Order: sequence, then structure tokens, then C-alpha cells
Amino acid sequence: MTKEGKKRLIYAVYTLIVITLFGCLVWLGHFVSFQNFINTIEQSTFDRRQKVIAKYKTANKDFVIISVDDQAYEYVMDKYGEWPVSRKIWSEVINFVEKAGPKSIVFDLIFAKPNLKDIASDEALINSVKNNNNVYLSMNFDNYSDEIRKSSILDDKLKLKIKEGSLIDNPFVTFINSRVIMKELMDVTDNIGIINITRDNDGIIRNTTPIFKYKGDYYPNLTLKVAMDLLNKDEVSIKNNRIVIDEKHSIPLDATQRTILNWYGKSGTYKHISLWQVLKAIKNNDSAFFDNNFKNKVVYIGTTATSLSDIKSTPIESHLAGVELHTTFLNNIFDNNFIKKVPVEIDFLISILLCLLVGYFVLKIHSVLKTFVFLFVSLTFYIIISTILMAKYNIWISIVLPCMSTIATFVLVYCEKYLLKVKDYEQTYKLAVTDGLTQLYNHRYFQEQMILNTNNFKRYGSVFSLILIDIDFFKKFNDTYGHQSGDCVLKQVASILKRQSRTTDIVCRYGGEEMSIILTNTNKKEAEITANKICNAVRNNKFILANGEKVNVTISVGVATAGVDGDMPQEIIEYSDKCLYKAKESGRNQVVSLV
Ligand code: GH3
Ligand code: MG
Ligand code: MG
Repeated sequence: MTKEGKKRLIYAVYTLIVITLFGCLVWLGHFVSFQNFINTIEQSTFDRRQKVIAKYKTANKDFVIISVDDQAYEYVMDKYGEWPVSRKIWSEVINFVEKAGPKSIVFDLIFAKPNLKDIASDEALINSVKNNNNVYLSMNFDNYSDEIRKSSILDDKLKLKIKEGSLIDNPFVTFINSRVIMKELMDVTDNIGIINITRDNDGIIRNTTPIFKYKGDYYPNLTLKVAMDLLNKDEVSIKNNRIVIDEKHSIPLDATQRTILNWYGKSGTYKHISLWQVLKAIKNNDSAFFDNNFKNKVVYIGTTATSLSDIKSTPIESHLAGVELHTTFLNNIFDNNFIKKVPVEIDFLISILLCLLVGYFVLKIHSVLKTFVFLFVSLTFYIIISTILMAKYNIWISIVLPCMSTIATFVLVYCEKYLLKVKDYEQTYKLAVTDGLTQLYNHRYFQEQMILNTNNFKRYGSVFSLILIDIDFFKKFNDTYGHQSGDCVLKQVASILKRQSRTTDIVCRYGGEEMSIILTNTNKKEAEITANKICNAVRNNKFILANGEKVNVTISVGVATAGVDGDMPQEIIEYSDKCLYKAKESGRNQVVSLV
């Protein structure tokens, strides 16, 4: 094969490797377990990127959290002697915070049932909610059957108005039952949102559901409700996989109709004010405290105590309070800062390009170290780019699929390269030991094999013989028919020798028109038989010359056997040479094995 052809073959095989690899990936992609496996690793790369990026992001300073933490529990138990916090206390919290003029007060707590033992407290809370139209309450949906808990029909005022578009039903969005808040509260406010949270397969919360579907109607996420009111919007549109609140604010949706949150930092990113400090300030009528902390703020109220079970595992931290998740969602809406995952087709395209690049360089670069460095640098560079894309443009491109397929391509192309190298080496070696004209082994190989066979004979006693062949009157032949015809004869004699000997015999061109055969495991007698067979075969053969003419050629043959005629390679060669000389002297066209 020509060098050019070989090159083309290498690149064809390499392209085939990449195509086959991606074929396999597409096929594997049909298995849910494979998808989940890849997704789980990919999600953990997302988490790592988020952790890095969060360090450089600043959260909205206008969002604060009144945290129901462990100290608040101790304080309330000590001062009021009851838990959960009495609704009268919540009513006071609302009233005092409202005095500072907050934008909104958002409860990430559910007031489910009336407290029949303390109706006055309930009434206080109902009044506070009723008197302030910026207080938001929460409820959630679930899928209990009607047998367990009769599901309720929700009031029309809780529904989300959607100007255009709809959602695709799926388990993250569609629910059949609900945990409603007490009727008396429901009656006095429209500000009620849903706080369901869904986890990925690995238990980590990366998404939030902005709109829920319940009994055929749409309901807003608590934070979407808050955001819409802050932006003075009472309806949204769903188009191009986005929930559009206004021209500047929209929320992208993934295939599950959820949105991927973009995190700002660990617990405490938003200012936490413990409930006990708020209660103390109420007691002291400390209006400065309220002005300092809540003026013009969006105030979320929720549990942050690790003991109070509203702790979530998120990309950024494994113990993040649920209330911080809602705050993060609101922050994302106001920054228009949601993560957009690129379609899987783009991930595939990137993977193919990366594979082709790395595969090409593996074939091009000769140094092993350099190829490994190249792979390492390309993948590191790719991971950095993907992190920058997420940080600057909120774009999530896959890391796992491209890196995995690139490493697979690297290994496969390396194998291809190695196999070709082995083949190259074999070819070079063959060239080095073969005679170009006759395709027999050359003199160098003959000498090597003589030494090897002599050594084997000495060590293991495996006897061998040597036949030396010389064409008769070849000089004259050349003079008569020309060198080209001489070459023809040489080739044909060589092929007769090969045909007449065993595969274990080593047939060589000794030099000029002399040839030799090392007959392994062959004693003198057997060697003589073979030598005669060859001599007869040449004698009886019609040699075809370059011009088509047919002629007869004869050879003289000398035979020597290890041990009998000599112990050293040189001795054996000399002995067979002497035999050959004797054959010439005795009239040529014969075999001589004894001097
Ligand atoms: P004899 O061996 O019978 O004594 O006579 P001869 O004429 O064969 O004697 P010699 O060994 O001296 O001559 C060898 C000749 O073989 C010389 C050269 O012209 C020819 N010869 C050697 N190598 C080649 C080759 O590669 N091609 C051709 N055409 N001739 C070769
Ligand atoms: Mg000769
Ligand atoms: Mg000769």
C-alpha cells in the first residue's frame, strides 16, 4: 500500500471509530438506567460549577429572612411555654414588620387547621392578614387519594391567570390533592401560593416548579405569586418554553416544566434575622430594629433550624433551609438569571467535535507524553469553558458526555495507532530479512539462523542439516540469454526450493546465484533425499525466460549435517561448500554429501 493510501486508511478507521462510538452512545441512550447514570454524574458537575460560580455572585440585598431557628425555639419555649409559635405571635410579627413598610411578608409556613383551643389567636392572625395585602401564605399539593383525605375544590381567586399557552402534564406539575390552609384565612386573602419542592433522583433539589396544575386549573408557586405582584402583573403567558411575566422577566422551563435554579451562595447568603430577636424587639417596642431590618424589604419567614425538618439538600450545600430556596427563586426572577440547559443535540455536536480533535492529535503527535498532556489540557480547557459559560451566560453545557466520549476516542484511536505501529514494525522487519529479487531470506538472516540452530543443536541435540545450491554455468547463461532472463531463472529456482522444502525449513539466498536451505530436525540421510528431490525438480523444470523461451537449468548441491560434519556454523558451511565444489568438479547437476 502506498504511503498516501495508508494515511487515508488510518483516517477512515479513525472516523469509523468516532461514528461507531456515537452510534453506541445513541443506542445506550435508550436505556433509562444509562441515562440516569450519565445524568447523575452530569448533575454533580453542575453542582461543582455552581459552587465555584456562587463565590462570584452577589445576592439581592432587599431580601431578608426571619428564621425560625433553634435559638427561636429555645426563646419561645422559655418565654411563652408553647410550641409551635402561637398565631397571636405571628400576628404581632406581621403588625410590627408592617410598620417598617416592607415590600412583602411571605410565609413559608402552612397554617393548616384552626386552633380550636385558642380562637382569639387565630382571629388575631386572620385580622393581620386581612389588613395587609402584602402578606403571602403558602399551601401545598400532594397525591393522596380521596379515601385518605378528601380533596378540596379551590377558590377561583387562587388560580393563576394565564393569557396564553399551557403546560405539559407530568408528575412534577400535576397533582390530585392538596393541603389547604384554614378556611378563615383563605377567606380574607388572595395571596396564597404553592410551596411544593421536587428533588432529582439523587435527592438534591436543583429545580423549582413555577406553575402547578390541580384539577385541571393552574396555580402559582408562592414566589411566582410574590414576584408577579411586585412587578404589578396579574397574568402570565407561556411561550417558547418560558413563563413570561413581562418583557424583562421570564422563567425558562425544562422538559419537566420546571426551572433550574441558579444559586448565589451558602446558607446565610440572604440576611437571617432570628425570630427570637424579632420577638424581643416587639417586646421592647424597638421600632428602629424594624426600620433597619425590614424597610422596603421582601421578608420571607421560614424554618432554618436543622431540627425542624425543612432542610434541603442543594447543589450548593447539603443543609440549606427551604425558605432560602424560595428566596433564591425570587432572586433569579428579578435578575433574570436562570440556568438554561442546552439541548442534547448540542451536547452531542460538542462531543463529536472534541472527539475528532483529540483523535486527530493522537494520530498526529508521536510522543506518548505529549498526547496525554494534550488530552488533559483539552479536557481541562473544556471544563473551564463550560464553567465560564455558566457563570457569564447561565448556559449549562454537558461535561460528562463530551469528556467520556473523548476519553473513549483517545483510547480507541491510541489502540488503532498502536496496532498500525506493530504492523509497520512487522513489515520493516520482514523487509530487513528478505531478499528483494527472490523473496527468500537474505544472507544476514541465514547467518543468524545458522547460529541459532547450532545453539539449539548443542543445547537440545536437535540435529539439522544445511544444503548449499549453486546454479551451473550461470555466468554463461547470463551471457547467452541476458541478465533479465538470469533473474527470471533465479526467481523460479527460489520458488522450486520453497515448494520442495517444509515450512519449518529456512530457504535463503546465500549470495549471487547461490542459495541455501537450513533443514531443521533433519539428519544427513533425510537431507540427502531432500537435496536429490530438489536437484531432480530443477533438472526436470522448464524455465520460462523473459522472452517466453523455455530452457533447462541444472544445479549442483552440497549437503552438510550438524554434529557429523561440524559443530560450529562456519564448519558446517565450509563442509557443504566443499561438497558443492566436489559436485561441480564431478560434472555438476548432482548432489554431494561427502568429501
Ligand atoms: P559454475 O557455478 O557452474 O562453476 O559456473 P558459474 O558461471 O555459475 O560460476 P560463478 O559462480 O563464478 O558465476 C556466478 C554468476 O552468477 C556470475 C553472475 O553473472 C551471476 N549472477 C550472480 N548474481 C546474479 C543476479 O542477481 N542476477 C543474474 N542475472 N545473475 C547473477
Ligand atoms: Mg557461484
Ligand atoms: Mg554457478
